[in-house]
Amino acid sequence: MNCPKCSIELKSIMAENIKLETCPSCEGIWLDKFEISKISTIEIEKLNSSEIAQSLTKNNPPKQTNHKALICPYCSSEMDTFNYSLDSGVNIDICGHCSGTWLDDGELKDIIEYIKNKRASLPEIKMLEIKTRLEESKNSINKAGLSEILALYLRHAFKFIYSKDYKGF
Ligand SMILES: [Zn+2]
Ligand SMILES: [Zn+2]
Repeated sequence: MNCPKCSIELKSIMAENIKLETCPSCEGIWLDKFEISKISTIEIEKLNSSEIAQSLTKNNPPKQTNHKALICPYCSSEMDTFNYSLDSGVNIDICGHCSGTWLDDGELKDIIEYIKNKRASLPEIKMLEIKTRLEESKNSINKAGLSEILALYLRHAFKFIYSKDYKGF
């Protein structure tokens, strides 16, 4: 499988229980279908200190603003850009066809930072309130009629943020 940006071959890495393909040139990260749902904050901490730590930091110049749709390296469909958790400002590329995900250099780190900041800014709320929030967000996701993969990302983000003891899907 080749990098959707540089077209060079991606390198397979197992980091904890998560299978990643990374690009040796632009340091982007490819995640197979639902592989991102295995990522919990604990795994993320481990990833940060693992051998792929350097691919989690931004070393490359910021991408161009005229963001052209990427072609999925797995199934060749056009990928969609999705603002993680809708308000994070981290625009990840996801494939609506095979549910794979492309993260540009530094985007996984940006997501981690976003989750940490969001959690820190939350007031101490009781468990019951957290549960209600999760239910509410689930309902609005269902109502919005989003694709399976978009809904998964949203549920994942909400669980991360609102359940401080959330350990992954
Ligand atoms: Zn690349
Ligand atoms: Zn695909």
